[in-house]
Amino acid sequence: MQKIVVVGGGYAGLGALGALRDLPETELILVEPGEGHQLIPELPEALAKHDTVDHHVMPYSELLKEVAVSRLPYFAVGLDTHNKTVLLQDHDPVQYDWLVLAPGSEPSLPPIPGLREVAHTLRDGHDARGIKDALRYAKDQRVAVIGGGLTGVEVAGMLAIDHDVILVEGFNRLLPALGIGLSTYAYKRLIAAGVTVVMGQKLVRVTDTHIELEKDHYGYDILIWAGGITPPAWIRQSGLPVDSRGYPVADGYGEVLPQVFVAGDLWHVVVDGEDIPATAQLAALAGNFVGQTIASRLTKGQPGPEFRPHLRGMLISLDEGQGVGWVLHGGIPVRGFSARTLKNYSFQQYRLKLSKIFDRPWP
Ligand SMILES: Cc1cc2nc3c(=O)[nH]c(=O)nc-3n(C[C@H](O)[C@H](O)[C@H](O)COP(=O)(O)OP(=O)(O)OC[C@H]3O[C@@H](n4cnc5c(N)ncnc54)[C@H](O)[C@@H]3O)c2cc1C
Repeated sequence: MQKIVVVGGGYAGLGALGALRDLPETELILVEPGEGHQLIPELPEALAKHDTVDHHVMPYSELLKEVAVSRLPYFAVGLDTHNKTVLLQDHDPVQYDWLVLAPGSEPSLPPIPGLREVAHTLRDGHDARGIKDALRYAKDQRVAVIGGGLTGVEVAGMLAIDHDVILVEGFNRLLPALGIGLSTYAYKRLIAAGVTVVMGQKLVRVTDTHIELEKDHYGYDILIWAGGITPPAWIRQSGLPVDSRGYPVADGYGEVLPQVFVAGDLWHVVVDGEDIPATAQLAALAGNFVGQTIASRLTKGQPGPEFRPHLRGMLISLDEGQGVGWVLHGGIPVRGFSARTLKNYSFQQYRLKLSKIFDRPWP
């Protein structure tokens, strides 16, 4: 009997479990402290006035009902690769033969004076609830969003409906993962929605009432930090080989040490010298790939070709009913209502996919 431990029940962890669930003579263990799978890309939508965070969480008790997997509801806090165990908070270590590390990422907060004391981040349902509790849904409340990548743009667009929003980006353009035409479109849409977009100035200091940029300063009531992600601290300190940014150094199969794999945000995927942005879509594909690799190694003794993700697109929500991005492998640009409709469709497709993989009724 081979014991396969998956740490993290997010996009990558569930992708791996889906590929491993029917493997004979294996014991599957999921280490996951949360009660449900958080649909993180939907969290900006959860900030809207009439939405709730619970709509965007799928309880594991329902999702994994038909799967022979034991869930250990604890945080992984370290690894002992010599003895092949995962160290858990408030629980005995769990032993593994095969390990899939998929705990996602953490917000990366630089040492800007005053930032940590006041900043909200948005990485999970708990964060989303904290932001919702602070929002008054009134135009006289000013929300400062720092970071013009995917998360910052989506949050700014969503909150612009009910708030006075300022979006700050240190570089001279938003959404670096998109081409210049699409990023200019996003900029214009946010301006039209009433967002004050400040680009080309970095945040240098935060007081109780103001954000201070390199040249200007602005008052704020709520500050949301969307300035990037980093691997979890315990992974960086786990003894695994890591690169200069703290990402485990993995081969083309996601394998870091013999029978220890990473997937999702933790796997910094580079294809033909190009960094692939960390997204839920990539995480689900990588998790499934790693699960299939382990299954092939156990049943056939060797894996197939290395990981080459075929991404179906990238779609970003803007203000009410609007979006921007690209679809299909050739990268066809989409804007406006059609982009947002496709994005909503992709959310539904993901839920449907999970319900099929885990034999559950339509969620
Ligand atoms: C606001 C926002 C909007 C986004 N929008 C999009 C989008 O539109 N499209 C897109 O493709 N991507 C989007 N992303 C990125 C996407 O959410 C991530 O790339 C994706 O969730 C990564 O999947 P993952 O499985 O690696 O990690 P996660 O989905 O974060 O799952 C990690 C899991 O591990 C668990 N965990 C964490 N620490 C531990 C621990 N120590 N021990 C055990 N378990 C642990 C967590 O509880 C969680 O369930 C967005 C991200 C954010 C923050």
